Amino acid sequence: MSKATAPMMPFDDAIATMLAQVSASESSETVPLTQALDRIAAEDIVSPIDVPGHDNSAMDGYAVKAGSAKTDDKLKVIGVAAAGHPFAKELADGECVRIMTGATIPTGADAIVIQENVTANTEAETITINKAAAVGDNIRLQGADIKLGHTVIATGERLSPVDIGLLASLGIAEVKVKRKLTVAIFSTGDELVAPGAPLESGQIYDSNRYLIHAMLQRFNADIIDLGRLPDDLGKIKDALSEAASQADAIITSGGVSVGDADHTKAALDALGDVGFWKVAMKPGKPFAFGRIGAKQADNGAWFFGLPGNPVAAAVTMDQLVQPVLIQLAGQQPTASPVFNAAADEAFKKRPGRADFQRATYWQDPQGPLKVKSAGSQSSGVLSTMKSANSFARLEQQRDSVAAGETVEVLPFSELLR
Ligand code: AMP
Ligand code: MG
Repeated sequence: MSKATAPMMPFDDAIATMLAQVSASESSETVPLTQALDRIAAEDIVSPIDVPGHDNSAMDGYAVKAGSAKTDDKLKVIGVAAAGHPFAKELADGECVRIMTGATIPTGADAIVIQENVTANTEAETITINKAAAVGDNIRLQGADIKLGHTVIATGERLSPVDIGLLASLGIAEVKVKRKLTVAIFSTGDELVAPGAPLESGQIYDSNRYLIHAMLQRFNADIIDLGRLPDDLGKIKDALSEAASQADAIITSGGVSVGDADHTKAALDALGDVGFWKVAMKPGKPFAFGRIGAKQADNGAWFFGLPGNPVAAAVTMDQLVQPVLIQLAGQQPTASPVFNAAADEAFKKRPGRADFQRATYWQDPQGPLKVKSAGSQSSGVLSTMKSANSFARLEQQRDSVAAGETVEVLPFSELLR
């Protein structure tokens, strides 16, 4: 099919086509909590205990029987309960126990009077209640945070710092997680030079590989960096075969627009089943996806060919590749936030492709969320990504947007922040 007549694939179809094919590996490993951040839970985690494990005091004060702790009642202080040091005996009417935050409620007590609401008498070992207690006052009940048997973390959840703290609060020291994805990357292009080396005429620095590497670090993948490759069929073929034998996925940049020097297609035709797509999105129209090696075979890999223009590479990596990597990693998909905002100024657009325009959104103190373009929308201008905090997603069939119209805002995902 010639370039001119190839139909464009709607963005949602591209995602659906990829997600229909990939599935997560079943392998898992057990890691200590300190290694578990951003890993994906490989099983449901059920609480083995109640948290807290015993009724305890939420405040510093006095443990009392509410029935004998009315205003002006005088109580005898018969002991002290501190966190980790419970008071052993039982309370009787007219008695109380000095208690600290986190200490177990003594047997017989049913309320805590905070120390601000009592007067400690000069007469030794007694207090006078200034404000009556009600049953349950300032008591944290056993199991009020987490009940024994409750599913705290579900299979496929990505473990956050809070999750790690929760697991520790349950006494769980290690956790079964899915194997990390191994992703091989390389960039293609005769014009590319590694940062640190001088540029000669016509050369540019290879920014994409560093950008993609950093995005994969945020994703918590293991990365195999195969470097820069010239536009050379043989070298690209060798790199792809090597990568496919080692990685779950291969991500390359450049050489997917099927120009004269674009050898990726020829290399992939020889090695696997990869489709070269024109996705109806901007930036990012040329994109390649498929499989190198047999589908189930361990020595095969999924292939993602990103366009060479840096913003197109970043947008396709974020919007098209990230959801597929999430599924491959065995992570439950989570809906990314989308807000409606009022265009603060016009956005230029032509119908036919969904635009992901680099944009800045903010909360107007007087009114709605506002959004405006972050500057140049050229797919080679990476600096506009830096001043943006979001994509303004303009629907495929939409024409230019006038100031005041409603626009969808996608705050940058953590891969881009
Ligand atoms: P291509 O997709 O290979 O036709 O490249 C499209 C544009 O992106 C060209 O201007 C390339 O020079 C540029 N480009 C390709 N690869 C990279 C890269 N790794 N870093 C920065 N720019 C690139
Ligand atoms: Mg190129």
